Amino acid sequence: MTATARLLIVGPQGSGKGTQGVRIAESYGIPVVSTGDIFRANIKEGTPLGQQVTAVLDKGDLVPDELTSEIVRDRLSQDDAANGFLLDGYPRNSAQVAHLDAFLAARGESLDAVILLDVSRDESIQRLKLRAAEQGRSDDTDEAIAHRLDIYEHETAPILEVYGPRGIVDRIDGIGSLDEITERIFAALTARGLRLAA
Ligand code: AMP
Repeated sequence: MTATARLLIVGPQGSGKGTQGVRIAESYGIPVVSTGDIFRANIKEGTPLGQQVTAVLDKGDLVPDELTSEIVRDRLSQDDAANGFLLDGYPRNSAQVAHLDAFLAARGESLDAVILLDVSRDESIQRLKLRAAEQGRSDDTDEAIAHRLDIYEHETAPILEVYGPRGIVDRIDGIGSLDEITERIFAALTARGLRLAA
């Protein structure tokens, strides 16, 4: 049996949301929908979309909302997302929240939980620098890191003011071992009655 869970994971770059997102999605039997991964895959394959967004990603800017939202709508329309999904990296500003709300509402759906991975800016910068050394991502330069964190603070963090009053935000302390953090997230989701896939 597959569980139904429509989830969003939010946190500053370097908060560990990618890693935690994969763990949660596997446990719930739902796909991860990561806009950053979709863009990077297109860049790697040299598709027209990839060519269109390369410079934007390298600078740490946001890809235009309309384009990003269209990609997410297409992805969420695939069969494997019918029973749930975990969004990572989208929505990233209030316009994208409005797009997602409208799309889900038209399907009679809504998000079950928004997992906020709470990590300070200093901690994020340290982790991103480590990742830059290990993985060599082209948008992990000092400048792009600072720019992406600014965008997170000014555009992305405010979306929690929209989701907060809906009572769906779980704020999770993002400091600790990977397993500890995963346990905290599972505890929060279980408390909402979201069951793991059997
Ligand atoms: P991420 O892997 O989530 O950090 O995303 C990497 C980059 O992809 C971002 O810095 C943006 O350039 C782009 N990107 C990812 N998600 C979005 C989004 N929801 N809206 C606009 N741009 C995005």
